[in-house]
Amino acid sequence: MKAWICILASMLLLVAGAEAQFPDPNGGDLERGTMPSHWMTGGPKCMEMPDWQVHEYNPNFYILRQSGCTDTEMPFLYLFFGKEQGLLWDTGSRNGNLAPAFQKIVHNWLERNHRSSIPVIVTHSHSHDDHTFGDAALQALQDPAIPIIFIPAKIPDTQAFFNIHVWPSSIGAVDLGDRVLNIIPIPGHDVVSIALYDQRTGVLLTGDSLYPGRLYVRDLSEFQASTERLIAFIQGKPIAHVLGNHIEQTSTPFLDYSIGSIYHPDEHVLDLTYGTLLELESALKSMNGEPRRMAMRDFTIWPLSPTESGLGAEMEEIYKRTQDKQLRDKWEQPK
Ligand SMILES: [Zn+2]
Ligand SMILES: [Zn+2]
Repeated sequence: MKAWICILASMLLLVAGAEAQFPDPNGGDLERGTMPSHWMTGGPKCMEMPDWQVHEYNPNFYILRQSGCTDTEMPFLYLFFGKEQGLLWDTGSRNGNLAPAFQKIVHNWLERNHRSSIPVIVTHSHSHDDHTFGDAALQALQDPAIPIIFIPAKIPDTQAFFNIHVWPSSIGAVDLGDRVLNIIPIPGHDVVSIALYDQRTGVLLTGDSLYPGRLYVRDLSEFQASTERLIAFIQGKPIAHVLGNHIEQTSTPFLDYSIGSIYHPDEHVLDLTYGTLLELESALKSMNGEPRRMAMRDFTIWPLSPTESGLGAEMEEIYKRTQDKQLRDKWEQPK
């Protein structure tokens, strides 16, 4: 009996050791920040909506969201500042007009920090056009205060820039100046999907591979292997938030918005946790290699054909029907 208690106690200690990175809640040296109580989406009146909602998580980390009145995808973008460089994660979707909003934030940051310029690395969670549409505008940006270091959303460029020795099994990194960001290749949704871990805030960016919504999976075995590698990488590291690229889930468990919705009253929160990542891993394992649609509390795993492009006829039909209605109502959405 005693031996069992000892074994149990040491197992608990092991688990605690893996999870409790800090001895007490305020013992850590993470740079803390706050999330907004809700995000603007598409209305209720599009005439009132800015193209981008900018949220200051803390003075050196910003979250931007594209308005649903400009594009139904409403992606999130992330902007980090280190002592030497900044890094922008994605460039937005169609009609995003990102450059002016981006310049304004960087100029404000420069003024606040009594600086005249800072180079900004522009990189991508993956190559889909709802996250790369603003590329050309940012590449063409002629702002002496913000020299752009542009990384195309392609494997060789991403691998070389972040020093990823073997794709996709090695971990890459970039130091923005007293701020190291780790880059973890996670193909499966797209061939060039990556995750990013910020050691300063404990924020983990997961792109389109994990967010509160429909996780479209092109290659199940790659997606599963990537999820497992990501979990292995974050073992023992503090995770403040797991942040993805979209919200498509309502605040009601197991209920999402129709594809094509531009207005999301009562949206699910953006931030997920380490626990959600474990839930994803266990759901993928339960498929035993056979792709199937599986709705979880906060997300749905949604396998797609590995050969056909697009989301399939069923989704195209729902998208068109939803869009027609929402765009008709966009100047005054029903509450
Ligand atoms: Zn995508
Ligand atoms: Zn996307």
